[in-house]
Amino acid sequence: MTARPLHDHSRLSINDATTKAQWTLEQAIQGYSAQGVRGISVWRDKLAECGVPRAAALLADHGMTVTGLCRGGMFPAPTAVERRAAIDDNRRAIEEAVAIGAQCLVLVAGGLPKGAKDLVGARMMVQDGIAAVLEEARAAGMPLAIEPLHPMYAADRCCINTMAQANDLCDRLGPGVGIAVDVYHVWWDPDLDRQIRRAGKDRLLAFHICDWLIPTRDLLLDRGMMGDGIIDIPLIRGWVEEAGYEGFHEVEIFSAETWWKRDPNEVVTVCKERYLTVV
Ligand code: ZN
Repeated sequence: MTARPLHDHSRLSINDATTKAQWTLEQAIQGYSAQGVRGISVWRDKLAECGVPRAAALLADHGMTVTGLCRGGMFPAPTAVERRAAIDDNRRAIEEAVAIGAQCLVLVAGGLPKGAKDLVGARMMVQDGIAAVLEEARAAGMPLAIEPLHPMYAADRCCINTMAQANDLCDRLGPGVGIAVDVYHVWWDPDLDRQIRRAGKDRLLAFHICDWLIPTRDLLLDRGMMGDGIIDIPLIRGWVEEAGYEGFHEVEIFSAETWWKRDPNEVVTVCKERYLTVV
């Protein structure tokens, strides 16, 4: 069922990667909030640059809802020492997410360890890595949002590639783990409707939107603005909302040649326009 049209921006969030090339975190908080956008998702590099306490204060002062901290994960590694370092980094990410009041910590699982071909093993490292930080995440009240990434990233970025895989991981890991549904990564999946229903309200922690361009000129940095590509966003939003999701809709666009070259205020304005017309 296609979702009901959106009439206001009360559930619009913008991931700060959308204006990554133009704005610092402070500028993004000011720029989004100046145009009435109440949600933001924050990347850790921008957060580090701003400083966690200062970012927390700025976010609170502007009344921003932090729909996610990006990102934890990246668990697979060739050696035990490196895998432990990744786990420690995820512990710090949980602390940062708590410090800025994020609704979840987004996990991009990680790909194959350097030089490896063992995809099954890499996926097991992801499960073990999440399990290693799960008690702390639960104690901190910080939900971990596994984000399945498009299979084109399986080797180098994320070996969790479908909603079904993410749901299976949630089944095995138990409470405290859920899923971030990003239309860019899952739109093609013939099982998407069923897996969103399977995830249900408790597991659906975030909903990310952008569009799939034809042609896509870069695997990472050529995402489209909503409405410029072929993803039926209202259909997928309908599925997510039918399953009980009531959270924000987070615009997340990596676009080196288009949106990162535009005036960031204009980018926000276009996000707001498209949000009401094609999302
Ligand atoms: Zn995403």
